[in-house]
Amino acid sequence: MATALLIVDMLNEFVSGKMRCDDAPGIVPKIKGLADCFRKKGLPVVYICDTHYPGVDRELELWGEHAISGTWGAEVVDELKPQGRDFVVRKRRYSGFFQTDLDLLLRELEVDRVALTGIDTNICVRHTAADAFFRGYRVAVVRDAVASWDGAKANEEGIRYMSEIYGAEVQSAEEIIESLEQKGTHRQEKGQGGANP
Ligand code: ZN
Repeated sequence: MATALLIVDMLNEFVSGKMRCDDAPGIVPKIKGLADCFRKKGLPVVYICDTHYPGVDRELELWGEHAISGTWGAEVVDELKPQGRDFVVRKRRYSGFFQTDLDLLLRELEVDRVALTGIDTNICVRHTAADAFFRGYRVAVVRDAVASWDGAKANEEGIRYMSEIYGAEVQSAEEIIESLEQKGTHRQEKGQGGANP
C-alpha cells in the first residue's frame, strides 16, 4: 500500500488571482519538493482542483465567481504544473471526494494514506481530510505546505483540528521526504496519469 500526495487548490485564482491567499506563494516550494520526491519514488501525485460552472454551482452564491471551468483561474500555478504521470481531479465543492472519482482512483492505485497540501487549511483541505478519514484512509497533513486565508494562527488551529478529530499525522515536508527516502521505490504505477496538458 502507498501514500499519495494530494495538492489541493494551488490554482492561479487562489495563489495570485482575485481570491488570493497571501500565504499561498510561500508554500509553493515545499509542495514542489514533495511532488518531485513522490514522482521519483513512483508514488501518486494527485491535484485536487476547484472547477466551477458559472451560473450553476451553488457554492458561487456564497463566495462569488472563482476558478471557473476553462479559465486561467482554474489552472494550477505554473511552478507546480502537473507532469506526465500526475492526476488531476476536478471538484465543485470543498471536498476532493465529493462527487468526484478520487476515491476510485486512490483505491485502484492501492493508496491507503494521503498526504495533504495546499489551501485552504480550514476549508478544502479540511473537508478533504474529513472525507478521507470517513473512507478509511490514513491522513497526514504537511504542516509547512498548507495555508489559510486567515493567516498563520488559523492555519495552526486547522492543523490541530485535523490532528484531533481525524487522527491526522502532522509532519513537515522534510519529514515526509525523509521517511520516503528511507523506503524503497514503490512499484511502477499502473497506467498513465490523467494530467491535463
Ligand atoms: Zn470553489
